[in-house]
Amino acid sequence: MLYPWQREDWQRLTALRDRLPHALLLHGQQGIGKRDLALHFAQGLLCEAPLADGQPCNHCGACHWFGQGNHPDFTVVRPEALEAGEGGEGDAESGSSSKKKAPSKIIRMEQVRQLIEAVGVGTHRAGLRVVVVYPLDALQTEGANALLKTLEEPPPSTVFLLVTDRIDRVLPTTLSRCRQFSVAPPSAAAALEWLRSQGVADVEAQLAQAGGAPLTALHAAEAEEQPLLRLLVSQLGAGPTFDALAAAEQLQKLPVPMVLGTLQRWTYDLLSISLGTGPARYFPKEQAALGRCAGATDAHRLQGFAGRLVNHRRSENHPLAARLVMESVFLDYRQIFR
Ligand SMILES: [Zn+2]
Repeated sequence: MLYPWQREDWQRLTALRDRLPHALLLHGQQGIGKRDLALHFAQGLLCEAPLADGQPCNHCGACHWFGQGNHPDFTVVRPEALEAGEGGEGDAESGSSSKKKAPSKIIRMEQVRQLIEAVGVGTHRAGLRVVVVYPLDALQTEGANALLKTLEEPPPSTVFLLVTDRIDRVLPTTLSRCRQFSVAPPSAAAALEWLRSQGVADVEAQLAQAGGAPLTALHAAEAEEQPLLRLLVSQLGAGPTFDALAAAEQLQKLPVPMVLGTLQRWTYDLLSISLGTGPARYFPKEQAALGRCAGATDAHRLQGFAGRLVNHRRSENHPLAARLVMESVFLDYRQIFR
């Protein structure tokens, strides 16, 4: 996906399509969406019917496979630690506190070997082969050297999109083999507006703490509220047996915009399941609960509820007691089920 502040970067990327370099190194500040930009560009390159501005159509076979993570001509190489969590823009520091063996934060030599093997085979669909590596600085010496060899003798029809926020850690020899592409950070206004739309409270403070990087700010905000947000999602999943008043009591510490934002995403997923337009986009792990809830209501009621949520969001920053707002919204949610 493309963030609202990435329009110009997207145009600059698209302009490169006429004479695509073998390797493009996207670099810039952490937490501004470089990885998502690279993935979106990769999807656009593989798409069979890209839009006029080069964006992927999201409907063709290639886009479908890409979305499912199994396009045969697309390879992504990243540390295991990033494979596990969805989201989380390349920030290896904020790993989960799992007690099990921590997933690797480096890109292992074995992964580089598999990549080199994959690009050695011709493309499956007679188009381009696209490889995304992030963060490039997670490569160790041996892996970096092996990748460098491949970049020196680039396989035909293959594009490497390399992503890093530590360009100072990339080998000079690797740099010399790549076209460098500096990804612009968003303006403060754009970052604040986007954070608000994500339901983050106290956006100025969060953005400042994150050094102006909106994705870092979002993840930090979500991390703080994570336990309560999980509770909210599990309660929403109860559908017809949702206890609205108890939920409002338990969740009153959550910022109202975050609750409303979560409800909007939840309702979006319910609607797309109800209309049969797609699987869950925001809560893929809750597919079963979403399916049960969608089965206990209908698209008409869901659309009505979604519209009322939009109205609620207009007044979300009024100093009404959070608990009262939540009680009324939760009771409304409970009512949409038969
Ligand atoms: Zn497409």
